[in-house]
Amino acid sequence: MIIKNKMHLLLTSLIIVLLWFPGDAAQAEDSSTNLVLVTLDGVRWQEVFGGVDQDLIADERYTENPELIQATYGHEQREERREKLFPFLWSVVATQGVIIGDRTRASYMEVTNPWWFSYPGYNEILTGSVDPDIDSNNKNWNSNITFLEVLNGMAGFQNSVMAFGSWDVFPYIFNTQRSGLPVNAGFDIATNALTEKTVWLNEVSAEAPKLWKSVRVDFLTHGYAMEALRSQHPRVMYVSYGETDDFAHDDSYDRYIDAAFRTDMMLSKLWHWLQSDPFYRGRTTLIIATDHGRGTTPDGWPHHASIPGAVKLGFDNAPDGIPGSDQIWFAAIGPGIPAKGLLRGHWKQSQIAATALASLQLDPQAILPEADRVMEQVLR
Ligand SMILES: [Zn+2]
Repeated sequence: MIIKNKMHLLLTSLIIVLLWFPGDAAQAEDSSTNLVLVTLDGVRWQEVFGGVDQDLIADERYTENPELIQATYGHEQREERREKLFPFLWSVVATQGVIIGDRTRASYMEVTNPWWFSYPGYNEILTGSVDPDIDSNNKNWNSNITFLEVLNGMAGFQNSVMAFGSWDVFPYIFNTQRSGLPVNAGFDIATNALTEKTVWLNEVSAEAPKLWKSVRVDFLTHGYAMEALRSQHPRVMYVSYGETDDFAHDDSYDRYIDAAFRTDMMLSKLWHWLQSDPFYRGRTTLIIATDHGRGTTPDGWPHHASIPGAVKLGFDNAPDGIPGSDQIWFAAIGPGIPAKGLLRGHWKQSQIAATALASLQLDPQAILPEADRVMEQVLR
């Protein structure tokens, strides 16, 4: 009798729970509880949507081995070219998710900040607002609060938010002094939660070529990020790849292209690993964005800056700035992202933060009241 009553009680409780949370039970199947936000520094929409640029391959100033680049990434058809350069983006993200920024197809996205270079761009992506006082790439502690910092203080997200970047300015952008966010960037090595792989990454960090004084090669950033996903399972992660921008500033189109291809490969590994892990599979959104564009012309493509930005950066020979470098692109895939492919319309970089929060079923208004509005069409 007692056992029967207990069974009855259990069944009644179960029915009450199911009646009480009918939406939640259904929603858990197709909603995202985790987020990985990735940026590719200064990758142009022209390459994302058009593949390698024939004029830049043919330009002796920029391409050392045009035959090799042409054989690897060239094709007469635009669609074929872009798939050769970004196979993951086009075969997976653009078919199962959304992509924005093909200006030849009425799809537009731009930075809002007036400078068109990195720190202001990352601040805009991560805070959802423009701060006119952020007018340099210097290592200044950011007075603004990123959405990762807010999440890190919220129940359910504490100690579950992390950032990895190739550029050594990210600790300042996230203001680690104030935020306490774990940020591994630039030439940082891992110092806690050591695993066999992070110990190895620490070793090869010392052995890897230092091509630039403030940016490490991306495989290290990627390796640390992947290992943190595997061993620590953060709910929210930011990963910033940086090689593309620096090879471009070096006037090296073939290396910029090769870096873009390798970054696409890293994104593929990242996404497929997420789908193999029970914690992330079917519950994780991947957002891919960039901090700024680059010039549209053969003379302008290596660089990026608005008119006042060019003055700030000390470009003597760019009185008009670098036209077109405010033009950016965006892509997303995940359980709450519709499989719509190219979205036509007009969006801003400042909308990424609210969109990222909304993908986690959170109210952006409550978390970042100053942030620009959600990109509604990006979400189901
Ligand atoms: Zn740059």
